[in-house]
Amino acid sequence: MPKIPDEIVKRVIDRAKIEDVVGDFVTLRKAGVNLTGLCPFHDDKTDGNFIVRPSSIPEARHGNTYRCFVCDKKGGPVQFLMDHARLSFPDAIRWLGKKFNEPVDDIPLNYTPPPPRPAPPPLPVLEIPRSYVSRTMEITTERTVVFIYWLRGLPWDEDQRARLQQTLWMYCVGGWKDARVVFWQIDHQGIPRAAKLMKYLADGHRDKTQHPGWIYNQDGVRQKLDPEHHEIVKPLFGSHLLRAYPKAVVNIVESEKTAIIMANYYGNPDKQLWLACGGLKHLQLDSLQPLIDQGRTIWLWPDKDGRDAWQEVADKLGYDHCRVYTHFFDTCWTEADGDKADIADIAIRMMRTGDKPRKDTGDGQTPTEVPTAACSAPTPDTPHKPDNVTDDEWAEHLAIMKAIGDYDIIHPGDRPFNDIDEFADARLRMWREILRQRCNSKTDRLNERESKTSSGGRQRDAEREGVTEDV
Ligand SMILES: [Zn+2]
Repeated sequence: MPKIPDEIVKRVIDRAKIEDVVGDFVTLRKAGVNLTGLCPFHDDKTDGNFIVRPSSIPEARHGNTYRCFVCDKKGGPVQFLMDHARLSFPDAIRWLGKKFNEPVDDIPLNYTPPPPRPAPPPLPVLEIPRSYVSRTMEITTERTVVFIYWLRGLPWDEDQRARLQQTLWMYCVGGWKDARVVFWQIDHQGIPRAAKLMKYLADGHRDKTQHPGWIYNQDGVRQKLDPEHHEIVKPLFGSHLLRAYPKAVVNIVESEKTAIIMANYYGNPDKQLWLACGGLKHLQLDSLQPLIDQGRTIWLWPDKDGRDAWQEVADKLGYDHCRVYTHFFDTCWTEADGDKADIADIAIRMMRTGDKPRKDTGDGQTPTEVPTAACSAPTPDTPHKPDNVTDDEWAEHLAIMKAIGDYDIIHPGDRPFNDIDEFADARLRMWREILRQRCNSKTDRLNERESKTSSGGRQRDAEREGVTEDV
């Protein structure tokens, strides 16, 4: 039998992609940059031992190879075919040549495919204990509060300022021990699924030198939650509010920060909720499904550069009650905002100048319609007010509970509070104390400085200008 010329062998090997070769025999799923599946070389029952490093990874970093960490079988595309499909070297080259359209020779391939193996069982979906939510909400490192303090320093009107803390509570904004802000992604049934950790600077910008992290990847959490052996779903930020506000129209923006600012700006969650997908490219059809199931009216609010991409998502969705909403941007954006301005930037600028969003004149593009199917979600029971809580505190508490829809989702401490009175009391005390400690000292310092200078007002304005220049 004539030998296959070396240059043809090389050309075939260069074109072979391990993920496509193994993928013909083993059901693979993504695991970070790698792929995993059940090892075809031993009686594998657990997904995660057999790793495929796809061809997109450089060779120096073991790209285009597979390896089993139990039976230690490893190699590239040719080795896989020789070991698994029991092909000779020339037949492995012929097999690859056929698959990757690289002509080899006219000799027919001597090959009987091995019997198919069963697909691995589906992984359980990661569910994060609710106690983690409450723990992050107790963490108030300096940097976390810097973000919250920046939010408080925005030019809110009196009502908006008064409800800001409640808004943060509604959205379960927490902190991490290294000073990052924690944005929880709790699904529409109230189950925490993920949390994004981001560091913010004192000017309200995200620290772009650091990539956002995920809570299940953090030291100490990773070992407990074992994300490697779970499917990870990432609901829209704010999804847990859907339950408490069954009639609200759902507005979706890119960033978590924008969702919070807009939610607090309008302060009417009964009518409109603000959810965030986490970025221009993160608007997924999957994450919109619960909204469609509830028959919600969905308005997508892309930033300036995201219109086409989000229109494409809306088209693909093919759902009558989902539209891309550009009226706000079109009527409120000015040259001075700049090309990079996002929705939050414009809202902040308008708060400062006192401009109001221009009324939509009823061209059929106003986010007001709510289909009746949206009203079927259950409303949580109203508990009794404990004696030791004032009317104001109780009103605040009820508002938060209404938002969260489930009081055991947040509890200060390691154990759940089975008793609602105990919970209400502990929560209120905790937040009073945190706010007093963290914010008063700074507010006092600012006030002091303001009263010392005759142009205090102007100075404060200038400070605000300075910190929000290019949000
Ligand atoms: Zn193996």
